[in-house]
Amino acid sequence: MDISTICVHGCDKRYDTTGAVAVPIFASATFAHPGVGKSTGFDYSRSQNPTREYLEHTVAKLEGGEHAIAFSSGMAAVSALMELFSPGDHIVSSDDLYGGTYRLFDNISSKNGIEFSYINSLEEIEEAIKPATKALFIETPTNPMMRLTDIAEVSKISQKHNLLLVVDNTFLTPYFQRPLSLGADIVLHSATKYLGGHNDTIAGLLVTKDTDLNERLRFIAKTTGAGLSPFDSYMIIRGIKTLAIRMERSQENARIIVKWLEAKSEVAKVYYSGIGGMLSFSLCDEQTAIKILESVKIIQYAESLGGVESLITYPMIQTHADMPEAERNARGIDARLLRLSVGLESAKDLVADLEQAF
Ligand SMILES: *Cc1c(COP(=O)(O)O)cnc(C)c1O
Repeated sequence: MDISTICVHGCDKRYDTTGAVAVPIFASATFAHPGVGKSTGFDYSRSQNPTREYLEHTVAKLEGGEHAIAFSSGMAAVSALMELFSPGDHIVSSDDLYGGTYRLFDNISSKNGIEFSYINSLEEIEEAIKPATKALFIETPTNPMMRLTDIAEVSKISQKHNLLLVVDNTFLTPYFQRPLSLGADIVLHSATKYLGGHNDTIAGLLVTKDTDLNERLRFIAKTTGAGLSPFDSYMIIRGIKTLAIRMERSQENARIIVKWLEAKSEVAKVYYSGIGGMLSFSLCDEQTAIKILESVKIIQYAESLGGVESLITYPMIQTHADMPEAERNARGIDARLLRLSVGLESAKDLVADLEQAF
């Protein structure tokens, strides 16, 4: 089945007999048992809820996985993932990461005894692996520099060293990239972004193929308790229905804007992976960057990405504020860099908005 059809129709699960075309929001904390030692399959919504389960099955199907677990945010999903590891374990990660993930690794996971090495090329991965290494954590394209990593190549390394390969697939979504089919073990999503797609819900997911790994993660999820609410699960299910068409349109708009930016003398460099709706660009000076942020009218100066509304961010003081300055500068995340999440407005209006802002 084509992915566009899965987006619209979701998974095959049906929880009632009314023929409801949209999945109901099961706003129930607990579920009555038909008898002693018997269960409908649902006991308590921290462990499982039908609306959340529907979302989980849908995203597992989209990613070509077997299992998914939905969390109250992308960061709750990363936090749960980190509970797989013990003090002394070592993780090799992309160096150009979502700022919040970096903050979690650097302030919380490190405090819990997990060590990290940050790399920015395939060659560096193997150099960074030690006997204590347990996992590789990859974001592709990277944020905010939009560098692509060959997941299949990374997976060869992870298999050779018996490591878990985790891929944050927030930026491309299963519409453009299915990491499990390329050898990843766990796919991570901030569903707040493209899966939800409307800048109105915070949510996260972990997707796996392996049943044992899923059971370990599900135990962590129900024990630590950050499951997605039934209402928010419904919001993400609703968003996913238009995922395919939104990804196409935002990519089409992004390509037009990239061409326009590349022709502007004020722009020093454009960072675009060639796929999807995310791009960054570096201005020739800081004043121009600030002027653009303060002058855009349709595009909004706000954190986040992947929604129908175009958003522009200043990574240095927003998403990557917690990264030490020296590291930020080394990665090119400086006062001249802006990141644009291209939405679904008319490309003509977006270009005109940028033109007047420049
Ligand atoms: C936003 C984001 C996260 C964190 O997700 P939240 O839903 O904001 O908690 C993780 N990874 C990437 C790539 C993101 O863009």
